[in-house]
Amino acid sequence: MRSVIDLHCHSLASDGVLAPEAVVDRAYERGVRLLALTDHDTLGGQLAAMERAQCLGVKMVSGIELSCLWRRQSIHVLGYGFNTVEPALIEALRGQKQRRLERAGEIAQRLEKQGLPNLLDAAITQSDSDVPGRPHFAQVMVDSGLVSSHAEAFKKYLGSGKAGDVKNGWPALETVVQWIVKAGGQAVIAHPRKYNMTLTRLRELIDDFKASGGEGLEVAVAGQKQGETGLLSDLCRRSDLLGSVGSDFHSPQFRWADLGSVASLPDSVKPIWHDWSVAEGLAG
Ligand code: MN
Ligand code: MN
Ligand code: MN
Repeated sequence: MRSVIDLHCHSLASDGVLAPEAVVDRAYERGVRLLALTDHDTLGGQLAAMERAQCLGVKMVSGIELSCLWRRQSIHVLGYGFNTVEPALIEALRGQKQRRLERAGEIAQRLEKQGLPNLLDAAITQSDSDVPGRPHFAQVMVDSGLVSSHAEAFKKYLGSGKAGDVKNGWPALETVVQWIVKAGGQAVIAHPRKYNMTLTRLRELIDDFKASGGEGLEVAVAGQKQGETGLLSDLCRRSDLLGSVGSDFHSPQFRWADLGSVASLPDSVKPIWHDWSVAEGLAG
């Protein structure tokens, strides 16, 4: 499965392993022609990525993946096409970074209570950027032999409901959606089937998201079964939302989520890029 449009990926600026320029290079080599770099809660990689994209002739829109809370559950919201120098957005992201730092400290403390050594410094080193998240803690656990794999780290310590799953402090869904909207962008719910929600609850999330000013749903997600994509297409149409496509690329090591390795958007769904000038002439 290949798509020439990939609107969800990560660089070193957050928890990806490639520099922003290298993400764009790889996307280009893999046939992606419209890209958004969506690092977690930071715009740190945008400029470098966009400069490289311009050299290669890859079209790009600004992107970000924001963490927030909805009914005490952590949700990821993607933002596209916003003004990257909007002062209110930059200020909001500063707060988000502070929360991520506090969260990293709390993850380390909670893991210590589980009998692990303090992993904060190692996780900070691991993160390259300055704010480690759960994947960095997982890597440190693997490297120091505390667990045998990422999967085990999440299953035992970091996954949903485990000690290292710290979700306090994120802003509310409507808050982050408004950050994007007020900066002139469009908000999309990331990987809607990864929250382990019932369909009823997912519909309620979508209703609240729309009421907050959200416009889209990530319909085609890497590694997702066809039936799931179909279900999301239905939800998208029924709620009059626009559809998006994203691999959620983090590392070439994770081959099932490589750049452009994602199904195209089903024809029945109106694409989030339908009125983007950069998307002219591209069939997603
Ligand atoms: Mn990530
Ligand atoms: Mn996510
Ligand atoms: Mn992501």
